[in-house]
Amino acid sequence: MNSYTSLVKPVQKKLNKKEVTRDEAEKAIKTILEWIGEDPNREGLLETPKRVIKAFSEHFGGYDQDPKEILLKTFEETESYDDMVLLKNIEFESHCEHHMLPIIGFASIAYFPDKEIVGISKLARLLNLFAKRLQTQEVMTAQIINAIETHLKPIGSAVFIEAEHHCMKSRGVHKQNCTMVTSQFRGCFANDKSLQDRFLGLIKQ
Ligand SMILES: [Zn+2]
Repeated sequence: MNSYTSLVKPVQKKLNKKEVTRDEAEKAIKTILEWIGEDPNREGLLETPKRVIKAFSEHFGGYDQDPKEILLKTFEETESYDDMVLLKNIEFESHCEHHMLPIIGFASIAYFPDKEIVGISKLARLLNLFAKRLQTQEVMTAQIINAIETHLKPIGSAVFIEAEHHCMKSRGVHKQNCTMVTSQFRGCFANDKSLQDRFLGLIKQ
């Protein structure tokens, strides 16, 4: 296994020794409310721990999913289609693993099919799977392309992500207007500069 495939494999949650109950998680939020100087028993906050944990289970629902299952169903009837398949500007919301603050942006995902194609919504589902975990943008970009390479086995693939990091906007350096760009290319997208340029041109249109 190379370092790329190792990135798509683990589902950290399963490795946790201690199974944390929902009740314990809600209590932890209550503790944080007290720590910031709030009264968790006042009317407006009574249900807040429940709501926060409910939101967390949405934000971090990607740990229970397997990329293999998303890319399992493929189609071989392609009428000899031989060009890139691109799904561009797919919006996503993730959270940075350093501050648990939102990362909000767009991803463009392309692959050059070999024998099989995949339902196009599956690329968006794959993005969601990795976005709904604590992330860095670099790792998420690599995880997406590695999952495509491992499970779809195309001739090549490309991923481009541009996102705003709220930990830079609302804290720390307080920069409001910068975005972070990451990209990964494999196979023909890495070897063929003109194909890579065409991908980058198409997503900027
Ligand atoms: Zn951060």
